Amino acid sequence: MPSLRPLPALSDNYIWLLADDTARTALVVDPGEAGPVLDALAAENLALTAILLTHHHSDHIGGTFELTRHFPDAVVYAPHDDRISNAAARRVGDGDVVTIASPAARFHVMEVHGHTRSHIAYHGEGLLFCGDTLFSLGCGRLFEGTPADMLASLDRLAALPGNTQVCCGHEYTLSNASFAQTVEPDNRALVARAEAARALRARHAPTLPAVLEDELAANPFLRVDAISDDRVPWPNGAAPSRSRVDRFAALRLAKDHFRA
Ligand SMILES: [Zn+2]
Repeated sequence: MPSLRPLPALSDNYIWLLADDTARTALVVDPGEAGPVLDALAAENLALTAILLTHHHSDHIGGTFELTRHFPDAVVYAPHDDRISNAAARRVGDGDVVTIASPAARFHVMEVHGHTRSHIAYHGEGLLFCGDTLFSLGCGRLFEGTPADMLASLDRLAALPGNTQVCCGHEYTLSNASFAQTVEPDNRALVARAEAARALRARHAPTLPAVLEDELAANPFLRVDAISDDRVPWPNGAAPSRSRVDRFAALRLAKDHFRA
């Protein structure tokens, strides 16, 4: 069974490393920089065999070139998007299966547009690598997609098995918890998650991976159907149509302007 760890990178990114500690091989997801990956591989005497990319933002791909210079045999998997310029990359899209020989792993590729127009996620081995789509107690900003795009993406992720370990691209749990508690102050699952996250961050430990069923109980962006109308932060106080998408859009807009 491969072992999983988040490597802190840049200001608040995580690069996910999945290793076969017997074969001494590893894959990484979204290497925004090479240094933390090279350090971890050297410290544990691991060879890099694959790099999985979720979307084109530089804090998720910036270390790819340097890593392939050190490990020329590492296979790069990337979404169909010219903004990731890598002639050798294997382009993958919705429904594709990525099979890695070592560490032995199979991932199903899911298109999850919203944060960007070509964002993908990788699901398999009980893990979800979802980049900047689903965060612990939050979701990504809508840079290139509509609220309807992002809600459809989150609905797909929410339907995965409840015990899925959610491996997000950033350590945002505490700030997300502050916003979530303005929406659902009486949600006991959320209160417990916020307390656990505070304790972990106090000793600089990652709050990730999250467990999907815990997210379903506490993440407001997965709870648009559960949050009562009077708790939705409608812009201008107006609730014109109150569709699911409108409810999601109101939450996302309020989060954009929220300061803890
Ligand atoms: Zn991003």
